[in-house]
Amino acid sequence: MAERGVVLGAPGAVALEEIRVDEPGPGEVLVRIEATGVCHSDLHVIEEDGWGHDLPVLLGHEGAGTVEAVGDGVDELAAGDRVVIGWKTACGSCRNCLRGLPRQCTRPPAAPGRLHRHDGVELTPVLRTGTFATHTVVPQVAVAKVPRDLPAEQACLIGCAVATGVMSVLETAKVWEGARVSVIGCGAVGLSVVQGARIAGASEIRALDLDARKAEAALAFGATSTEPGPSDFVFDVVARKQTFEQAFQLIASGGTVVQIGLSPAGETAELSLPHLFARRARMLVSHGGDHVPADFPQLAQWALDGKLDLASMVTHVAPLDGWSEAFDAMRDGSAIRTVLTP
Ligand SMILES: [Zn+2]
Ligand SMILES: [Zn+2]
Repeated sequence: MAERGVVLGAPGAVALEEIRVDEPGPGEVLVRIEATGVCHSDLHVIEEDGWGHDLPVLLGHEGAGTVEAVGDGVDELAAGDRVVIGWKTACGSCRNCLRGLPRQCTRPPAAPGRLHRHDGVELTPVLRTGTFATHTVVPQVAVAKVPRDLPAEQACLIGCAVATGVMSVLETAKVWEGARVSVIGCGAVGLSVVQGARIAGASEIRALDLDARKAEAALAFGATSTEPGPSDFVFDVVARKQTFEQAFQLIASGGTVVQIGLSPAGETAELSLPHLFARRARMLVSHGGDHVPADFPQLAQWALDGKLDLASMVTHVAPLDGWSEAFDAMRDGSAIRTVLTP
């Protein structure tokens, strides 16, 4: 069967098309994608005409599947392994990696030149992954083995939404037991922040969303309230002017705002400097919760142990050609997560 992928070929032009996937090179793996979540960042890539990726772009970055082949020098992975693909990896040689901070790597490696359109033109995979496809090729550091007991439809969420949300709490913010937490924006990432806060032992978890249905849904994942209130940590998963300014209004003395969401180009906010001073405000920016693929096995185990509810986050499952409806369901708020099953 032909290899296929969802491609942004030109600004505004997205289509499912036949693609060509090369064999993996040294240090690379070929993965057959079994499930891929439809994340807001893919919509961002479409709306921002590639968001810095060279066109044509192979969409998708939240995938799980099975290793089909490995390149030379790959000895810890083999054909048949169930893996989750990660977009946030470490090069081992940039300034931050050399300082012992692989979670802050500024040059995550890619596997360039392996993916092509049918006519041979090279495809740029979103965030070096490209998971809205039957197959992709990524560097071996971009995959982590997870138990096959966890269904692929759930496992794929670990690759972006769950790692981003949970690790924003545990790694970026280091939320302490008993802390009061607010989450603005209750999509898949926000619900993962809620679950991370529950795992961290937060005493209050306030789920806030303009869409009351989404805030209410967060109660089933561990939120304790849908009303705003003073908080030690406020996670802004939306990152628009209104939510960012609200986040600083909500922090208690010494409180921390954690910016997680991708803002549209040109977005700005206004903050009162006397207010920031009075509250001793702190701010952190979370790039995917500073996760690395080495976190995935733990997250998968928490899911198998019932500490993380991934099943309830998957509200829609569709074949690859359901990508368009999946974006519609994201825009109108009717899906928490649509998972495509190539
Ligand atoms: Zn994502
Ligand atoms: Zn690095």
